Amino acid sequence: MDKIMRPVILLGYLLSPLPAIAITFLANPTAYGTMKGLLPMVLGAAAYTWLMAELVISARPKFIEKYFGLNQFYRFHALTAIGAIVLSFFHKQLEDAIWRDFIPLISNLGNYAFVIFVGLAGLSLFFMTGMLIRHIPFLAAIRQFLEKKRIVDFNLSILIHNFNILAILLVFLHVFILSAFYQKNIWICGIYTIYFAIAFAYYVYHKRVRISLEKLSPYRVVEVREESPNVHTLVLKRRMRSPKYKAGQFVFIRLLADGISSEEHPFSITSDPNDRSTLSVTIKSVGDYTSKIPALTTNASAIIDGPYGVLGNSVHRTRSELVLIAGGIGITPMISILKDLRHKDPKRRVILLWNVPTRAELIFQNQLAALARYMPNFTFIPILSRDKNFNGEKGRITYEKLARLLAHHRYQSRHAHFIICGPTRMMDSVIDSLRDLDVNKKRIHFENFSM
Ligand SMILES: Cc1cc2nc3c(=O)[nH]c(=O)nc-3n(C[C@H](O)[C@H](O)[C@H](O)COP(=O)(O)OP(=O)(O)OC[C@H]3O[C@@H](n4cnc5c(N)ncnc54)[C@H](O)[C@@H]3O)c2cc1C
Repeated sequence: MDKIMRPVILLGYLLSPLPAIAITFLANPTAYGTMKGLLPMVLGAAAYTWLMAELVISARPKFIEKYFGLNQFYRFHALTAIGAIVLSFFHKQLEDAIWRDFIPLISNLGNYAFVIFVGLAGLSLFFMTGMLIRHIPFLAAIRQFLEKKRIVDFNLSILIHNFNILAILLVFLHVFILSAFYQKNIWICGIYTIYFAIAFAYYVYHKRVRISLEKLSPYRVVEVREESPNVHTLVLKRRMRSPKYKAGQFVFIRLLADGISSEEHPFSITSDPNDRSTLSVTIKSVGDYTSKIPALTTNASAIIDGPYGVLGNSVHRTRSELVLIAGGIGITPMISILKDLRHKDPKRRVILLWNVPTRAELIFQNQLAALARYMPNFTFIPILSRDKNFNGEKGRITYEKLARLLAHHRYQSRHAHFIICGPTRMMDSVIDSLRDLDVNKKRIHFENFSM
């Protein structure tokens, strides 16, 4: 299904400006019959449509996300936004060159929108994605410094990012005033307004209406369980059963309680998808928000958006042996995958390699032991990076260690599916090792815990 739906969705996205282009052209074939008239219009229509699409994408439509996964979806969001801004730049250059004394109000609306888009795109690339900082260590150091000094954090970046809506409104006015008051064409005005209305309604639904509806039937925290001094599991329950989810997926949680911000944060689901009476997430205290989790009391309300993610798709869709590789709190999706397998395929060959600094971080020991009792072909190998006295695997997950452990436990790198979750650097290094082991990239699945 994915193989068909992904190209269909991409094609739909690429072709989405066509109705606007066709209607604008047909409304005035004389004006758009020459390259001089046609090109700026086509560029403008494509930029407009794809900027409106960004509004829909930013609302994380699940019916599209489920074919790509949120990481890939957000990368697409970043790249297509840059593409739309580049198109609007060329549209503006051509319009300025051709219509030197174009109506100032309309030009200015477009110009202001352009400046906002460019500014916010730069900030978002820097603060919200790893796309720039991954390749430029100097920028990575600046971001780390600003985050450490609490000058900027992820949620402030989201707040600033939301100003894009202002630029979208300006772009809409730019096109609306031109088509309604100067071109005076109801068809052109209508098609551009429809694009805007769909995108805007979807955005408002996601950001406001859905949250208000969810508040009518919120989840309640029924247990806050300490797994280790800085890792806690929240067990959540609501009147209706939890939504259907697949093992390995995650949700965005918004806690409505005193003493904690109501911003939403993503966490992988750690409960068993076969038992939807409760839903649990396990959270490591790393910053302002997560360090408030231990103080949370039962009965606090929560709103959940999800599930999202495609990390565990290969578990449900294939019968292949599985190699689960976790780093630190990256164990969370794995525990749900294992609980699910216990019900659906307990004889599956599964090996879990879990890299943590010390024994204190090895949470879920009882659950893993219980799973091992029901799953005869499950192997668990803890790998401790900072415990020299540990009587087992030590250090990090290197190429040599992976090759040795896989060979020893008779896992075939060409046939297994590999599911990886952990800190970005660890994941990058594991993925490189797997590629060196000739693992096909279609068999490597990973989830990045930083968006
Ligand atoms: C798909 C996914 C699944 C995750 N699953 C788990 C899990 O099961 N258990 C767990 O402990 N952690 C998980 N995380 C990480 C968790 O979301 C962050 O640790 C948490 O949001 C940090 O918030 P903070 O304010 O305490 O820390 P900060 O110090 O403010 O943030 C640390 C980092 O967390 C990320 N982050 C912060 N706020 C947000 C936000 N609102 N939305 C998205 N990312 C944010 C940013 O990359 C930031 O650099 C997951 C993250 C993602 C993307």
